[in-house]
Amino acid sequence: MRRIGSHAIVVGGSIGGLVAASTLASRFDRVTIIDRDSLPTEQARDRRGVPHGMHAHALLISGRLGLEELYPGLTEELIAGGAVPFDPGADLLFHQMGAERVRFTSGMLGISQSRAFLELTVRRRVLLTPNVVIHDKLAVAGLSGISGRVTGVELHDGRTLAADLVVDATGRSGGRSDRWLEKLDCPAPENAVVRIDVGYTSRLYARQPGDLPDGGLLSLMAAVPPQHKRAAAVFPIEGDRWVVTIGGWHKDHAPADPAGFADFARGLPAGHIAELIEKAEPLSELETRQFPAARRRYFEQLRQLPHGYVALGDTICSFNPLYGQGMTAATLEALALGRSLDQFGVASAAMARHYYRAAAKVLNTPWRMATGGDFAYPQTSGPKPLGTDLINRYAREAMLAAHVSPAVHKVLLDLQHLLVPPSALLRPATVVRSLLAARRSTARATAVARPTTPVR
Ligand SMILES: Cc1cc2nc3c(=O)[nH]c(=O)nc-3n(C[C@H](O)[C@H](O)[C@H](O)COP(=O)(O)OP(=O)(O)OC[C@H]3O[C@@H](n4cnc5c(N)ncnc54)[C@H](O)[C@@H]3O)c2cc1C
Repeated sequence: MRRIGSHAIVVGGSIGGLVAASTLASRFDRVTIIDRDSLPTEQARDRRGVPHGMHAHALLISGRLGLEELYPGLTEELIAGGAVPFDPGADLLFHQMGAERVRFTSGMLGISQSRAFLELTVRRRVLLTPNVVIHDKLAVAGLSGISGRVTGVELHDGRTLAADLVVDATGRSGGRSDRWLEKLDCPAPENAVVRIDVGYTSRLYARQPGDLPDGGLLSLMAAVPPQHKRAAAVFPIEGDRWVVTIGGWHKDHAPADPAGFADFARGLPAGHIAELIEKAEPLSELETRQFPAARRRYFEQLRQLPHGYVALGDTICSFNPLYGQGMTAATLEALALGRSLDQFGVASAAMARHYYRAAAKVLNTPWRMATGGDFAYPQTSGPKPLGTDLINRYAREAMLAAHVSPAVHKVLLDLQHLLVPPSALLRPATVVRSLLAARRSTARATAVARPTTPVR
């Protein structure tokens, strides 16, 4: 591994900032993480800087493997702390396109925990790294530097901190990073904004064995678009709890009062989530979160990139959360950043370009999957990737096939967990299997509408 410089600053100490800092720690003498929030180090708790933290957060298997690369043994540590291991083929009740996917032993290992517990466990690992420090309750006001070159950050208290590289992991915002860059004569990247009007409502419940039917350890539901707009997740988390999240596209949102929430759950395509809500003991209030649009910033298309600066995580791309991709994408981007730094040996504009191209490769598949599913609703607006309708028609057949074919189900799992490229679904054997097996789905007659891409 090459030494790149003496000091790197990471702005934002959430998942994206933490994985970025771990990548940088072996390449810089010192790494400083700065976050304006108060960051817990003892107890997992939701915090103001991540207002959506309480809602169900899936960690995709490629994300878990990426985190393992940065923090060996993390999976075991999470499980020891109460995270629930599961096989997504055998233990997940996945109701989609009008029926449940056929269950089979996939041999894949997923883990389910709260977002706060995952972040806390990763933060503790980062704190064990001798050359990384975290300064919380400290806000960054902008970048310092000269035209085209970032040399550090300006703090809200007026101080300036110098760095060879600044990683912007401040998350999704209404143009904060663009304003920071424009002050240094760096153009802001083009944006793609896909309007989806998604809303989440969640509540925690006490978890008892047998709460879900047929030995299921967790459950996902996605309805048949475009008529049905609801999706739901029931995930087991540490402390023998469930997090139950019910979401919906285009303003079909669950109410935040207990009776309305229960009633809305009865409108889901299968009954077991409504039954669980009815009988389980609630452990929290109901919380809601609106997510009006997915957004991607195309840094890789900029002609001029600044020296000494890169963006990562939600700062580059924030997906429709219903697909559970954000934390995984941030982790894979951090690994890509490490490889670009090693190749160039300096935090130059050329390194940044190489990194953004690699990050775009990370993002292309999940962005296409998520926006493809979103465009199954005619109310969705924004740039629609070429070929979306055609791909959706075939994806619908594959999803119907997954009701009866373990082989097709396995390909869909690999794809959703970002373990294989989308071309895996187009292999001749998979196409033939999908088209034949789809005919045998009991939901074939009812799933007459346009398809959605798999949820999570
Ligand atoms: C409702 C909902 C559900 C989701 N579900 C999933 C899921 O199932 N699976 C999944 O992988 N992803 C999910 N996501 C997305 C996931 O939460 C994000 O992708 C992830 O949080 C991105 O991490 P990040 O570090 O890039 O940004 P953030 O988590 O947004 O963190 C940004 C950090 O920067 C800090 N900050 C901001 N401005 C400043 C400043 N000026 N100075 C200092 N610090 C600053 C903030 O305090 C914060 O800690 C969901 C998102 C939502 C909204």
